[in-house]
Amino acid sequence: MQDAITKLLKDLGEDPAREGLRDTPKRVEKAYRFLTSGYSADIDKVLNNALFTVDYSEMVIVKDIDFYSLCEHHLLPFFGKCHVAYIPSNKVIGLSKIPRIVDVFARRLQVQERLTNQIADTIRDTIKPLGVAVVMEATHLCMSMRGVEKQNSFAVTSAMHGAFRSSARTRMEFLELIKLRSAVPGLRETGYACLADET
Ligand SMILES: [Zn+2]
Repeated sequence: MQDAITKLLKDLGEDPAREGLRDTPKRVEKAYRFLTSGYSADIDKVLNNALFTVDYSEMVIVKDIDFYSLCEHHLLPFFGKCHVAYIPSNKVIGLSKIPRIVDVFARRLQVQERLTNQIADTIRDTIKPLGVAVVMEATHLCMSMRGVEKQNSFAVTSAMHGAFRSSARTRMEFLELIKLRSAVPGLRETGYACLADET
């Protein structure tokens, strides 16, 4: 990877040997290894000892989880807040593990829509809740830094399963509790940031 970064610096017209850049390939590799550490994370290990059987069926919400990811089209960051809710059937996940699940999938090359689905699917498959909902709000630097004006650099995506899909009231209760910064209706339709065919 360091050779590739050195080549990149040269191709940008830089001198990789100058003082400020001398250790840059090493630093960039270290940064990228961390930012993509989700590939080597084992979700089962993350959740190990954190699943509990309960007699509780009210909505569990963890909101405003900060996340940072990299868009797979430009390798530039997108970041924002993730909100997760589920209604247990008989199992819950330790609350501190929800942000860990978000990190495991955010620390990969991603598109926001897939990231949102992976978090929701993992919770659904792990504890089989009555419903699970994930909403992500993010700013995409590949849009805002490059001055792409035809689309907003701020995108909202959602994934809803079970009761959150079938019951408008449950869904509205969740959306009301997280109070989105952006408009709520048509979540999925509003926010396709950074499409693949976009330059
Ligand atoms: Zn992008």
